[in-house]
Amino acid sequence: MSIGSARWHRRAEPADWTDAMTSALPTEAGPRFRRMGAHFATGVTVVTSVADDVPVGTTVNAFATVSLDPPMLLVSLRNGSRLLSCVECSGVFAVTVLAADQQLLAKWFASRTRPTGAASFAGIPARPAPVTGCLLLAEGVAYFDCRVSAVYSGGDHTIVLGEVAACDELWPREPLIFSGSGFATVGLPASPPLRN
Ligand SMILES: Cc1cc2nc3c(=O)[nH]c(=O)nc-3n(C[C@H](O)[C@H](O)[C@H](O)COP(=O)(O)OP(=O)(O)OC[C@H]3O[C@@H](n4cnc5c(N)ncnc54)[C@H](O)[C@@H]3O)c2cc1C
Repeated sequence: MSIGSARWHRRAEPADWTDAMTSALPTEAGPRFRRMGAHFATGVTVVTSVADDVPVGTTVNAFATVSLDPPMLLVSLRNGSRLLSCVECSGVFAVTVLAADQQLLAKWFASRTRPTGAASFAGIPARPAPVTGCLLLAEGVAYFDCRVSAVYSGGDHTIVLGEVAACDELWPREPLIFSGSGFATVGLPASPPLRN
């Protein structure tokens, strides 16, 4: 699949915000910052993109929904990673939300020894997302198919804002949780959905 040139643009934060962030936390506070961050439980996703017909997928927990109208979400990707360069190149990505029984997939798409390109998806049920064609992990819980609308510098990561072109459930069941630097499951029945 070939995808046209990206039509989003990179926005830089004001210099004083970046300075404030870097000066507030000395370098030696990094490990403490990581430990404190680990107290915040998240879901786990695999973010995929494609450039020149070569698919890439990476485990990502820095995911959040951002806007309802228009529907937007964000992912934060490490600078210099294959996934980020692919997303910046193609201007598209897809997010598959993983289920509690997909821990091995989360580890696989985070592993440093997995092969690159299509080989990293070998044996994993996957299908193209309806709008962008980025691969979805077919046995995930739900997916979001996105076009990049903006990218923001975020220290050693880049925050990618995506406009959701399509989303749906795949196989709804209990989600995988990342908490305390390890995988977990919700374990307890969820409270009834909140309504406003
Ligand atoms: C629960 C969890 C949550 C995570 N959340 C995030 C997150 O929110 N954001 C984030 O950025 N990361 C996150 N990660 C880390 C991320 O999943 C891994 O770092 C992943 O390996 C990155 O893949 P990549 O291909 O994008 O990165 P790369 O660093 O490009 O590649 C990963 C590995 O492949 C090797 N490699 C790179 N290019 C090639 C090549 N051309 N040929 C052969 N080998 C190559 C690299 O040496 C490296 O070892 C998370 C990991 C876990 C377990």
